[in-house]
Amino acid sequence: MRINCMLLALILYNAFGFSQQTYSRTTVRGFSISAGQTTTHIHSLPDSIQIIGNVVIRLGLKGDFGSSSEYADLFLDDETIGTHNGGEECQTSWDYQSWTVPAGQFVSHIIDSEVAVEVRNSSSVNYCSTRYHAVKITFSYNELTPAEVGQKSVVDFPEGGGQLTQHSFLSNYSIDRSGSIDVGIRGDFNSTSEYAEIWIEGDLIGQHDGGSNCAASFDQASFSLSRAALQDYASDGIIDVMIWNSSNANLCQGEHEVFLNAGSIPFWMPCSDCGYSGPYNRGWLVQGHLGQDYPAYPNDSVRAVADGRVYKVEKNFPGFGGLDLPGPVMVIEHIKEDGSHFFAIYGHVSTTLEKDDIVRGNDIIGTVGHYYVDGEDWSHLHFGVWDAPDSFPTTGWGYGSIRDFTDPTPFLNSRYLPWP
Ligand SMILES: [Zn+2]
Repeated sequence: MRINCMLLALILYNAFGFSQQTYSRTTVRGFSISAGQTTTHIHSLPDSIQIIGNVVIRLGLKGDFGSSSEYADLFLDDETIGTHNGGEECQTSWDYQSWTVPAGQFVSHIIDSEVAVEVRNSSSVNYCSTRYHAVKITFSYNELTPAEVGQKSVVDFPEGGGQLTQHSFLSNYSIDRSGSIDVGIRGDFNSTSEYAEIWIEGDLIGQHDGGSNCAASFDQASFSLSRAALQDYASDGIIDVMIWNSSNANLCQGEHEVFLNAGSIPFWMPCSDCGYSGPYNRGWLVQGHLGQDYPAYPNDSVRAVADGRVYKVEKNFPGFGGLDLPGPVMVIEHIKEDGSHFFAIYGHVSTTLEKDDIVRGNDIIGTVGHYYVDGEDWSHLHFGVWDAPDSFPTTGWGYGSIRDFTDPTPFLNSRYLPWP
């Protein structure tokens, strides 16, 4: 299988409907009266679609194909697809025949966004003056939209086996860590001969045998990717993932779900939605301040800086509603790229989350509350990092001795991935 880069599936976290399209029709007219000719039909394909399911190639003949020794062979590049015996002697109407080709087989013949279909007449045909070949290609497709590394891509496929789906991810930052690809399949994959192959840009990454008969939920498998491989895949800014179902899988309509984690756990900024840029912007260790403040309006969204689990939620913790006033604060235990844990304090934040809730990076976890100083509302997010896997303190969260607190700004900046 040759994976071609022309079909760049840039897919958001969405399940797409698919639709049938008569993609392309070409006609070659008036080849010479002598027999044995080959005509070539070039079909151009746009980058904005993804072929799924089977491809139907229909060949129409007009001329002299009226006996068993008068036929035309159909080729996809140099691969024989079938033979068309149809047509009456010097007929003036089209005689049609169709062949079904799996999407993966069809895509393997695409070169520079074009696929070439060749029709070769047998030696005894075409002694008529009207001599046409018409080739029509029909397939189902998804419209494609961009996705980024760290986002999930879901593509559905129709009933039947041998489908190829594509998931491409933008990756325009340098990869400095190993990663993984998580693949979920839903459909009919419930025997050893029913499986999906996972390919990344020409490399077979692995095989996924999971999934119950016509399962309604995804069956997940994870595959590790080395830093060197990811750097290679990402060198052109796009990482292409293709999933190829075995020929007898997917007697049900189903979906492939792909999450590409290239460069390990992505980190995000906690107050990227905060609208206010005003004065309350107290930094690390200013008057013993154990974090970084982000100016914000009340009710601005606060986002998780990484994947994690809610460790503590306090509605009225001393000092988090203002100077000497109680207020809301939450603590999340996050995961670092090496698998170790740290704790982040999101101060002055109201949340509906509860202890042990799971969060994903960039999830909205709450909203900025009020912070009163001498009757004025200096609302802001207080963000603190306890850079240790345990021993999170019970007191001294905002001010006090440093212990395992660390400056959040370089901590985040060294990990934050600048998504485009
Ligand atoms: Zn603060």
